[in-house]
Amino acid sequence: MRILVVEDDDRVARGLVTALRTASFDVNRVSSAAAALRAPAADVVLLDLGLPDADGIDLLRRLRERSETAIIAVTARAEERERVRGLRAGADDYVVKPFGIAELLARIDAVLRRTRAARSAAGGGAPPLALGPLVMDVDAREARLDDAPLPLTRKEFDLLALLAQRAPAVVGRDTILDQVWGVGWEASSRTLDTHIAALRGKLGGALRIHTARGVGYRLIAGPE
Ligand code: CA
Repeated sequence: MRILVVEDDDRVARGLVTALRTASFDVNRVSSAAAALRAPAADVVLLDLGLPDADGIDLLRRLRERSETAIIAVTARAEERERVRGLRAGADDYVVKPFGIAELLARIDAVLRRTRAARSAAGGGAPPLALGPLVMDVDAREARLDDAPLPLTRKEFDLLALLAQRAPAVVGRDTILDQVWGVGWEASSRTLDTHIAALRGKLGGALRIHTARGVGYRLIAGPE
């Protein structure tokens, strides 16, 4: 399993690289955004958002545009708005410095498990999901609304695919958090609300995400 560590602080990087190699990862460490963009593909990218040569969020977005590699953002900034910015830019998970290696390894495992599950579901040759004007090709990770491409972040895609699969049934908040974010993801409840709001904005009036108060959400085709 290849992991790319993007970290400019040598002391932090040394500890991380040693711990990850001990855990049998094939580790490539770079210390700048420029080097991260040149690095060979990895299964997971551990991305320090505080880099000297670029804004970490911009780098995250660029890495995300190029591949479906799982990205775990690492930051010293614990504020929720920074986390939400990172998630919107396409991070699969977040760790805040200082963090324990055990926590990091658990998060890497969870992210890889979700990536593999998504790939094996795709490999099963799942037919496109269609609901009203929405068509989602889970295999290609493409969504179209009224036959126009619908740009979605990775999490928005997973969330919408889950709601579309179950539509018109209500999907519980806990089920969504478990299947889209994984168990134990901190601050995830409010993050879910943020993602629902973003999806509503992108869907316009063509499809509605109805809130089942205190239970969860359901996706409904057609106007109000
Ligand atoms: Ca740094």
